[in-house]
Amino acid sequence: MTVAAWTRSDGDGPHALFTGGVHGDEYEAMAALRALIGELASRTIRGRVTIIPVANAPAFDAACRTGPDGMDLARTFPGKTDGTVTERIAAELTEHIRSADFYIDLHSGGASYFVYPLVGYTLHPDARVLAAQRRMARAFGLPLIWGTDPRLNGRSLSAARDAGVPAIYAEYLGGGRLSDAGVRAYMRGCRRVLAECGLIGDDGEREPDGSLSQGRMVEDAREGSGHLQTRHTAPIDGFFEPRARLGARLGPGEPLGEIVDALGTHRITIPAAHGGAVIAIRALPRVARGESVGVVLDEIDGREPLELPEWPRDPL
Ligand SMILES: [Zn+2]
Repeated sequence: MTVAAWTRSDGDGPHALFTGGVHGDEYEAMAALRALIGELASRTIRGRVTIIPVANAPAFDAACRTGPDGMDLARTFPGKTDGTVTERIAAELTEHIRSADFYIDLHSGGASYFVYPLVGYTLHPDARVLAAQRRMARAFGLPLIWGTDPRLNGRSLSAARDAGVPAIYAEYLGGGRLSDAGVRAYMRGCRRVLAECGLIGDDGEREPDGSLSQGRMVEDAREGSGHLQTRHTAPIDGFFEPRARLGARLGPGEPLGEIVDALGTHRITIPAAHGGAVIAIRALPRVARGESVGVVLDEIDGREPLELPEWPRDPL
């Protein structure tokens, strides 16, 4: 198993690694990284850049989040060289991650979810790594910057954490579609991180006042923060009908959506478990019991209400 990687080096400098398609149904990252390869072909790179647009080719081939063994690549790191197909891909990607000085892993909500555009990182115990991750995340330039529990395992960022490699990830919509605004935001974010890390010249993608545009930064060190799939789970099988808009602020108990059965006789409201901003909402109408229908970013006690900015949207 060899993961298809593009790499280029023009001399001494750090090594930056980009991956997309860790989940096979997340298309913004794949398109943005493919375009980035084309752009970087004509630029001077002070160091080395490795780009893997489709990290999980068997899952992409099946247009699914996971590969044919049913394992979630983002729960399989560091993987096994003699394991299943997903475990072998994880092992190969882990070697790439260990060889990097900076790592950027791009995602989206896949076929099942829309995710508010955000860039995330672990609250790494090593202050040097954490400072680099905060810098990269700010440079990437999405409206939410989210630092979370560093103890989660199995992720690409867990492999980076264990290797002491500064790493960030990003999310932008999803729903099994390809957002042009997401592709543009990802390309710009990747260029800005490369410039921040000294690999390419500054593209002049700063705000008119010379600063990088700032997203809203939220850091949450509580156990399990950043794990999206366990929130607001469906109590029954059925159709999910969203009642809240992505990015909107909900008070505690306000409806995130409803689940209705085939005949429309049973209808259950899923209330927000706490106040906060909707950062993920189910895109796929079919929902099975136990699956998440959405994620509300907690308002942490004592902090101001969480109002998220608008984000660049696609024209209809
Ligand atoms: Zn993903």
